[in-house]
Amino acid sequence: MHPQMSQFLPLPTPALADEGRSGVRHIAIIGSGPAGYYTAEAAQKRWGEDVRIDVFDRLPVPYGLIRSGVAPDHQSIKGVAKRFEGVALSANVRFVGHVAVGSDVTIAELQGLYDAVVLATGAPQDRPLGIPGEALGNVYGSAAFVGWYNGHPNFTALAPNLAGTTAVVIGNGNVALDVARILAKTRDEFNGSDIVGPALDLLDASRIARIVILGRRGPHQIAMTPKELGELAHLNRAAPHVAPEDLPDEAADTALDPGQRKSVVHLRAFAASPAPESAAKPIAIEFDFFAAPRALLGETAVTGVEVERTVLVDGQPVGTGDKHVIPASLVIACIGYQTSPIPGVPFDDRNGRFANEDGRIAEGLYCVGWSRRGPSGTIGTNRPDGFGIIEKVAADQPAAAGKPGGGGFDALAAARGLAVVTFSDWQKIDAAEIARARDGAPREKFVDVAEMIAATGKD
Ligand SMILES: Cc1cc2nc3c(=O)[nH]c(=O)nc-3n(C[C@H](O)[C@H](O)[C@H](O)COP(=O)(O)OP(=O)(O)OC[C@H]3O[C@@H](n4cnc5c(N)ncnc54)[C@H](O)[C@@H]3O)c2cc1C
Repeated sequence: MHPQMSQFLPLPTPALADEGRSGVRHIAIIGSGPAGYYTAEAAQKRWGEDVRIDVFDRLPVPYGLIRSGVAPDHQSIKGVAKRFEGVALSANVRFVGHVAVGSDVTIAELQGLYDAVVLATGAPQDRPLGIPGEALGNVYGSAAFVGWYNGHPNFTALAPNLAGTTAVVIGNGNVALDVARILAKTRDEFNGSDIVGPALDLLDASRIARIVILGRRGPHQIAMTPKELGELAHLNRAAPHVAPEDLPDEAADTALDPGQRKSVVHLRAFAASPAPESAAKPIAIEFDFFAAPRALLGETAVTGVEVERTVLVDGQPVGTGDKHVIPASLVIACIGYQTSPIPGVPFDDRNGRFANEDGRIAEGLYCVGWSRRGPSGTIGTNRPDGFGIIEKVAADQPAAAGKPGGGGFDALAAARGLAVVTFSDWQKIDAAEIARARDGAPREKFVDVAEMIAATGKD
């Protein structure tokens, strides 16, 4: 029994009279990130007052990667949380925070309580690099590293060592750019961001002077968008560089789609700028294309990355046998994510997500967002996904089955002593974070669960 159980329960009764009302459909959405809230919005639009929606999250705070993934210096993107807040505050939607589905409550239990259970749990685990040396010290995946500077409670204790001079960032997507930019910024450049204080202090004392972004393929194959690339050209103390010989003939750019072409224009500008040795800014951000990491070297902590040059054969990078070592004191792999399995839910090991057919997993069980399709696309990509899954629920279940819904969950949570965090609890956490913000910052996040719970006033 949880010691604070009596102070947490029951969840507030929804303002709409509902329990036992025939025709009311009960939906559990697991995960309060974009996919979860877009799905809730779609269910509201589809069934209006005839639906009750519980949005579960294992954390006491909502919004998934909006809070813990999107870069802290990209506040305008985080603004989408306001839209989700509108959904969360509706009378027929509840936030059921601090409940880990799969351990605090099982999928089978939720299926017994709700007409439909929609998994929107994202892809929170780093995909392994699969090369020797991955377990060395100061080697991180981006879920961990980004989670650390964004205050995800799982990564509060990360404490990366930034006393060395070279960081190697593996991957050619926007997450690699986020990581490189965060490593390169000065304290002042974080003004207005919500980077957490401990990360800001550590980054402020960093001695990193060279950031190498490794890509197995070439400039035409990057998954980086123009805006994020363009930002690198405007950093106070860091300048981006591309080796001119890595760029294909300019005429070949016309075959690219317009977005990709704009990205390559940035790379061409970086190639035309002074070489790292003669650049005016003290930190070099070097793009190393056609470079596949083969091993991480070192005894206890990483000291270097062994890299093999590649050529593209049918679009695939193939090693040439030409190897070299990049000395490195920090390695961050930004090569993608996988979903965490949940007991009782079929899993697609190959693709690292729930086994599903267009979002359908089993009768009454669905998935959406990154846990359905893997870690790709923007926040907005999850909107059609959420609306699409609700259409499938409607097609599969023309009428509500008269299940107990949220009332049934509340009874289970009470019996189990779960310390459920409601949306109004989250609003207290939110207000406390805003109140303790350093000058110019929108908030100072709590970085551990106990602090978050304390801010609800319930402990
Ligand atoms: C580093 C990074 C930066 C990004 N930057 C941008 C950007 O600038 N712009 C943009 O458009 N997109 C960006 N994205 C992509 C965007 O964040 C994703 O498209 C989106 O968050 C995926 O939504 P989701 O709901 O599927 O997963 P998530 O956002 O990961 O949400 C999943 C939620 O499920 C919860 N959960 C997980 N397991 C359980 C469980 N067992 N029980 C209960 N709850 C659980 C988690 O706590 C989390 O809240 C970025 C992604 C990353 C990784």
